[in-house]
Order: sequence, then C-alpha cells, then structure tokens
Amino acid sequence: MAILQDKNVLVTGVLTESSIAFHIARIAQEQGANVVLSSFGRALSITTRIAARLPKPAPVIELDVTNSEHLSNLSSVLKEHFPHLDGIVHSIGFAPEAALGGNFLNTEWADVATAVHVSTFSYKSLAMACKPLIQKERGASIVGLTFDATVAWPKYDWMGVAKAGLESANRYLARDLGSENIRCNLIAAGPIKTMAAKSIPGFEQFEDVWNSRAPLSWDVSDPIPAAQGAVALLSDFFPKTTGEIIHVDGGVHAIGG
Ligand code: NAD
Repeated sequence: MAILQDKNVLVTGVLTESSIAFHIARIAQEQGANVVLSSFGRALSITTRIAARLPKPAPVIELDVTNSEHLSNLSSVLKEHFPHLDGIVHSIGFAPEAALGGNFLNTEWADVATAVHVSTFSYKSLAMACKPLIQKERGASIVGLTFDATVAWPKYDWMGVAKAGLESANRYLARDLGSENIRCNLIAAGPIKTMAAKSIPGFEQFEDVWNSRAPLSWDVSDPIPAAQGAVALLSDFFPKTTGEIIHVDGGVHAIGG
C-alpha cells in the first residue's frame, strides 16, 4: 500500500539531487503523493532542472521564506495546483559565513538575524501561509529538518542556536495548531553532504563524531534515511504525534562521548 496515496504535499528546499528534500519529494511521489516544489531567486532554475529527475512531473513555484509578498500569495499560487494541502515540508536552512565556523563570540546580530529569519522563523511563516489550504477534517502534517540542537557542536555556532529555536518553535506550533488537526514534527538528521553542509567549514569533524559514535553505520552521502523519516511523518501512520523530534542519526543522540 502506498502511504501517501493522493495526498497533496508542498516540498520546499530542493536544490540539488543530494538535497534531503529531493529524496522526500521522490519518495513521496513513489508513495502516491502529488508534489509541488518551491524554490527561490537564482536557485529557481536549478530546482526546475532537478525536478525533471523526479519520477513524476512536479511544478516549481517561487517562495523566498523571508519575502512577505511571496508568503501572502502562497496559498493562492498553490491553489492553482491543489484544492487543499495535506503535507508541508520545511527543508530550509541558511546562515551567513560569519555565523558559522568557530567565530561564535564575534558574530554580529545582522548575521544571526538572517540565520534565525531563514532557518527558524520561516517554519512558522510557512505553516501560516499554507494554513488557508488545510482542511480540518482531513488534517495535515508539517515536517521540518533539524540537526540535534541540545548540545554545542564544533563550528555549527549560530546555526545551532537557530536550530534550537526551530526545535522550540516546533513545540509551540504543535501547541497552537493541534486544534486545527495539524501535526508539527521534526526529523533530527545526522550529517549529510549537501550544499548546505558544504557551507559549514569543518563539516568533516561531524563525520569523525558519527564514525566513532553511531551504533548504526552512518553514510554522510546518503540522504535517503532522513527522507524516509520525513515521508513517514507525512503519512497517516503518526496520527497522534506532534511537537516531536524523531532522530534519524544512526543513534548518535543516545550515546555518550
Ligand atoms: P540543501 O542545501 O540541499 O537545502 C537547503 C535549502 O534551503 C536549499 O534548497 C535553499 O534553496 C533553501 N533556502 C535557503 N534560503 C532560503 C530562503 N530564504 N527561502 C527559501 N528557501 C531557502 O541542504 P539540506 O542539507 O538538504 O538542507 C535541508 C534542511 O535539512 C535544512 O534545514 C538543514 O539545516 C537540515 N539538515 C541538514 C543536515 C545535513 O547534514 N545536511 C543535517 C540535519 C538537518
């Protein structure tokens, strides 16, 4: 049985074939979903090219999550493709160079603000922009991606703070949208070599941690386990789960140093 049969899902964050979101879109389609992708700025044409590699056609719409006009038009743009929405994937993260790489004590507020706007606040903005298309009787699932923010990591710096905010925002969104039958959950993925990861100086230090601590072997070039987790959360198999963070990290979060 296909677990997303006839569900309408918006997937943000497809940039390359290594993007976690690309595999979420691919597996969602394989599981019966109708998928619309969103992208922004110069990435728009790249996303459109990558979308052609999905098993089925997926329209690409423009959405910069920091652009209030894009957000206010989102539900009417989506309505051209879907009568209603069953799933939303927030697979978006960005921090300026100055906010990463070990310069934590000297990063300026403007750079922190950008990281938090794109990576944290946008989770709420996206949910609210999509809400007019969600039908209470059908319910909906919102899924985001975090990197375990309960500890301080090498080099991750203000992105780690933004992710801690995302994890908290997920709990507040779950609190406030539960009455609308909307579930809000995050996948805490282990390190995966994507474009976003390449912008983190010293990413290989994460690889060392995972090689030495993961009970299950971890492959940094494999985004599929995280994508499978996200698709499972989009499905009807987690009907009473919200405000949750599911770790798809080979078990590292459970193991001491
Ligand atoms: P990626 O580079 O493929 O995806 C990041 C996406 O964010 C890109 O598609 C980019 O276009 C989009 N984006 C950035 N700014 C945006 C904006 N203003 N508006 C709309 N979209 C914007 O990398 P990825 O690793 O697949 O990242 C997806 C998510 O997974 C991110 O939230 C990331 O933090 C999270 N994550 C990644 C890892 C990892 O190791 N790669 C681990 C845990 C969590």
